[in-house]
Parts: sequence; structure tokens; C-alpha cells
Amino acid sequence: MWSVIKLFKLFDCNENDPLPIAAIEQLQSWGLIAKPNTLKCKNNHFLILTENRDYADGFVWRCRKRSMVSNRKVRCDVKQSLRKNTFFEKSHLPIWKIVIFSHLWTENVSILFIKKQIDIATQTVVDWASFHREVVYDGMILRHQKIGGEGKTVEIDESKFGRRKYHRGHRVEGQWVFGGVERETGKSFLIPVERRDKETLLVIIKDWILPGTLIMSDCWKSYDCLKDEGYTHLTVNHSIEFKNPDTGAHTNNVEGMWRHAKASMSQYCRKKRFYAGYLAKYMFLKSCRLQNVDPLAEFFKLCSIVYDPVDGVRADVVESAESESGTDSEIESEDESQTVFF
Ligand SMILES: [Zn+2]
Repeated sequence: MWSVIKLFKLFDCNENDPLPIAAIEQLQSWGLIAKPNTLKCKNNHFLILTENRDYADGFVWRCRKRSMVSNRKVRCDVKQSLRKNTFFEKSHLPIWKIVIFSHLWTENVSILFIKKQIDIATQTVVDWASFHREVVYDGMILRHQKIGGEGKTVEIDESKFGRRKYHRGHRVEGQWVFGGVERETGKSFLIPVERRDKETLLVIIKDWILPGTLIMSDCWKSYDCLKDEGYTHLTVNHSIEFKNPDTGAHTNNVEGMWRHAKASMSQYCRKKRFYAGYLAKYMFLKSCRLQNVDPLAEFFKLCSIVYDPVDGVRADVVESAESESGTDSEIESEDESQTVFF
């Protein structure tokens, strides 16, 4: 497992020194920067990572090879930034600060704490938190695997996330979220929805749950069609019972997920457009716990897919839900209002 001390030692953390070789090798093994013999110049020579203090991070990809082009001797003079096409490309922060940011972010500490620990501007910390959520959104939502299948049970439910400002005493409109949990493994999805009608929910169900799954839900009418869509469907009527006495159907797992997800989002997330990103972060951290994997290494695995240093940003990465700039509410003070969920 990674820690701040371990990262500090690896990077030797001096602002202006070139990256240590061990740190470069670790960045390569995470897939964050290109490995040797992967990048090429236009003349098809491999670029070589060369120490050069004129460049950020103290290194540059270089080709100086001589070759024959159309019967002429030419010498390549190619320089390419270590950060080009990578997760780090748009930042001027030292890489060690970004890596320590990622570590603390995947440990789910507050971004105010991160700001204090690595001494960066408020807007920078807000932008990087937003960027991290975009990566997990791209990795966890846009490229997701389906859950369920033959012999598996998935509980589904909808729940409203929202808040009330006590000092005004009236409710602010919340956000409906649709979710499902595979009972055997805890694998899950949470998707913000504008409507809870059959058309909306069925698209998500088919997108996330394999045919042949035993689906358990409450008696919401939008679910009436599931038997016609290749699923087995059992219901529990929550207005009279927690568990269907005839079939044993219940949705305790998905209800537990709502409690955890709401608790994890209770201090922030006032703006609707941030929901998708925060829910993706919740799903990501939950999935790391279930698989018992290091969240930093797992996060960088997603980064290396979304920001492939050799292929560039993958064409199927679409604008995610939070591309708008603006202040994230996570860092605002909470003194005037208190969050309640309903
Ligand atoms: Zn070349």
C-alpha cells in the first residue's frame, strides 16, 4: 500500500530537481508515462528519454538519429515533453505533488486537508479534485462491465439525494439516483436520473445488468416490464413489509448502499452537475475495498486507460458531466446550512 512517506522517498520531492530514475520507472509501471520503445518520431525511430534540465521534470523524449530519407541524409531533431498526452499534461505542478494529491484523494480525505498538506492554491485543488472525478467517471461509468448474470441476484432501487436548508426551513429540490447491488459480490452502480419512468430506468438496467439475473426491487410500476426483458423479477411491497414472506425477496443491500453513499456525500455536492462525479468516486472507492486493492494503483490504472501516453486521449472519452468550470461546493463553509437527505 502507498503512503505519503513512501511517495516522498520515491520522488525525492525537490521542486527543481529532475525526477529520480526510480520514480520514472514507477510512473511507467503505473502506465502514466510512456515506457521505453513505445513512442516514435515521424521517421519511425523510437524516442529516447533523455535528461534535460531545460524541461519540466528534468527529462525530454528525444530523437537525434541519422537516416536516409529520399536519398538524403537527415538527422532527426525531435523533442517531446514527458507529459505530452498524459494525465499530467495540463498541469504545471511538480509530478510528485500530483501523485501525492492522487494518493490523498483516493484515501478520501477532504480537499481542504489536501490543500494544506501539499500547499497548492484553492482553485488548483478544486480543479484537480474535479479532474480526478472525471477520470473515475470515464473509467467506472463509460467503460463499465455489467453486473449479475445467471445465478446472481441484483437488488435495484431509486432514492432521492438532496438537502434542506434549516435556516430557510424549506426543501431544495433533490436528485433522484438509480442504483443496483449484486448481492453475491457487492458490485454496484449508482446513476443520477432526471425521471423514474420505465423508459429511463430500463435503459440503465439493460446497460448495467446481464440477462438471466434475478432482480429484486420494490413494487415501483416502472419495473413491471422486467420479466419481458430476460430477467427473473421478485418484489417486496415496502408499504407493508421489509421482506416478502412468500419469496424471501428483500432489498436490504441496496438500502444499505444508499445510507453509505449519502453519508459519503453529506458535506458537499450541492450542485446537480457534480452528482455523477461524486457517485462515480463512491463506486470507485467501494470497488477498491471489495477487491482489497490499493486505491492509488487502481486509480492510476484508470488514468492509464483514459490518458494513454502512447495513443493519446482515447477517442471514446466523451465530455463528462462536470466539464464546466466553477467553484466546487466541497470547499465552501457549511456554517449556514445542514444537510439532510430524504
Ligand atoms: Zn527520428
